Amino acid sequence: MLFYSTNLQSPSLSFAQALLMGQAPDRGLYMPANIPVLSPEEIAGFSTMAYHQIACTVMGRFLQDELPEGVLADLTKDAYDFDVPLEHVTERQYVMRLDQGPTASFKDFAARMMGRLMNFYLQQENRKLLILTATSGDTGSAIAHAFLGLDRIQVVVLFPKDEVTNRQRKQMTTLGKNIRVLALDGKFDDCQALVKQAFADPDLSQLQLSSANSINIGRLIPQMVYYFYAYSRLAAQGEKIVFSVPSGNFGDMMGGMLAMKMGLPVEKFVIAVNGNDEFPAFLKTGRYEKIDPSKNCLSSAMNVGHPSNLARLVALYGGQMDEKGGIHEACDIKLMQQEMWSTSISDTKTQQTMTEAWKSYRLLLEPHGAVGWAGLQEFQKQHSRSGQLSVSLETAHPAKFPEEIERQLGFDPELPESLKGLGEKPEMFEMLETAYPAFKAFLLRTY
Ligand SMILES: *Cc1c(COP(=O)(O)O)cnc(C)c1O
Repeated sequence: MLFYSTNLQSPSLSFAQALLMGQAPDRGLYMPANIPVLSPEEIAGFSTMAYHQIACTVMGRFLQDELPEGVLADLTKDAYDFDVPLEHVTERQYVMRLDQGPTASFKDFAARMMGRLMNFYLQQENRKLLILTATSGDTGSAIAHAFLGLDRIQVVVLFPKDEVTNRQRKQMTTLGKNIRVLALDGKFDDCQALVKQAFADPDLSQLQLSSANSINIGRLIPQMVYYFYAYSRLAAQGEKIVFSVPSGNFGDMMGGMLAMKMGLPVEKFVIAVNGNDEFPAFLKTGRYEKIDPSKNCLSSAMNVGHPSNLARLVALYGGQMDEKGGIHEACDIKLMQQEMWSTSISDTKTQQTMTEAWKSYRLLLEPHGAVGWAGLQEFQKQHSRSGQLSVSLETAHPAKFPEEIERQLGFDPELPESLKGLGEKPEMFEMLETAYPAFKAFLLRTY
């Protein structure tokens, strides 16, 4: 199977090549040239399979021809050794908690698989890599944990110093070993811009740079799996399902879209965003205007004014968008409107939703999950769909946002095992000026 660049100016690559490359040389994102389709019988068969087996089957369709027999089965079994709770809320509505991994964020699903796959291919090719990753909080810690101690990979994490919680920061800065962390006085978009610039800089080519952001196809493919999993546990055969996805850079949502294109019976994807509402506006009009600078909202991991995976979504619907958001070929916006619905949830609404969900259902949500849940409620109200099977994604553990839970609900959520003991560990990170020359100098000096 080949992967092409959304900017159409770089050659297509195998999965392993695209995985190790990260972003394409033309600054586009890799997309599968064709999407394999699973039969209804295969999808029905998932109901008796464990999560890691579903993962092996779904991902295998994209990469099996590049892995020796049995390797993918071993890697998925090793990566997915935690629960994926589906919490019943009311009628046919559920919340899928993607927060039981080692950093209590849904990003563990992709990061753990990606680390294992990269390590496998690097060993085969006897190569090393330097991973650069910008984070708005959860990516950095998920990547750092998933890559910690891998001998062929060094990791640099950049984060906006005022936009992550103490706990999120400590999850990255207390690791050491092959993980280095840089704090910037700026926004997530600034961090991401520095990383992108480094990839395009020929002076750094000897460093073997790669990316673990959601721009890497290796992040996307594992994120298809939990949609199949939820469906396998909840749906009658052939029944259609609604997913609500709290979204920022749109990697999570793109995993869902690919799952649907593989044959998963989805009625609608609800794309719930915070005050950064460039996507709902685009879906309505087909005209795209990014939000620059992005707005600071409570659901800080979704403070994205220009979702990098939007180029992939546009490609999936037959259009072409460059990395800056310029549209060179219009996509099939009508079809997109049939398959997706999107809304922007304000901070006030997010807070109300946290309170109401707790009061009405004892449903504990942190701000990102609350955006997803609020989006689902709005969708159902507007479409009179309350009896429809629907699943809203909770993307982080509520204990990662204790300040907001305390403010809205009046108690401190209990820490999962994975987050205990962070307070005592020493932190290591450097402050860095938010300018490309400073970042470049750091890289050249350190590696
Ligand atoms: C990263 C993140 C998101 C957004 O996911 P995207 O794939 O960037 O859309 C949502 N919630 C949490 C908690 C996150 O960490």
